[in-house]
Amino acid sequence: MNPDTAPSARLTVCVYCASSGSAPPEYRAAARRLGEVLGERGIAIVYGGGAQGSMGALADGALARGGRVTGILPRFMADLEWGHRGLTELQLVEDMRVRKHRMLAASDAAVALPGGSGTLEELLEALTLKRLGLYLGPVVLLNTRRFFDPLLELLRRAIDERFMDARHLQMWQVVATPEEVPGALESAPPWSAAAREFAAI
Ligand code: AMP
Repeated sequence: MNPDTAPSARLTVCVYCASSGSAPPEYRAAARRLGEVLGERGIAIVYGGGAQGSMGALADGALARGGRVTGILPRFMADLEWGHRGLTELQLVEDMRVRKHRMLAASDAAVALPGGSGTLEELLEALTLKRLGLYLGPVVLLNTRRFFDPLLELLRRAIDERFMDARHLQMWQVVATPEEVPGALESAPPWSAAAREFAAI
């Protein structure tokens, strides 16, 4: 199928990823490749707007393939010149909370790449909102270098210990390569506000 006419062509995806440029280069390569894959398919990206690390690599990859990339950056980070200068659109917001909210509200799905506390917080908030039926889109984890394995084990433990329900396992999908992300977004199990009925177990 022509990537321009694929069902995913109208999608906007929120991507959470690392600002660090010091992590192994494989992470930045995966971020850049994901940008390319999404850009080629006409899937728009909303992300944190940074120029460094996986964030910058993601944006550069998508822009190189003609993709649409919107950055949402807290004003203080723009003042520190952390923002990417070549984006389709850069929205400046007051603080981290507004940014996080707007990134999810402006997109149809979320993809998390390996990262630090910021990425993990963003990912876990998306899952928390999904559990409560307040966010219904797919959440895909790109498991480069099996980075997310310990987190996935911890989430499994949370289910085993009955902090969460086994149905919550459906809230996220895990893929190994950037090329698998569009398929995972399309085949994610449906989720509805009825999830609230088993949010508290
Ligand atoms: P982390 O995975 O800890 O690097 O966090 C990534 C998130 O941290 C981003 O989504 C931003 O919220 C924020 N962040 C930290 N440093 C930067 C930076 N230099 N440029 C842009 N965003 C940053």
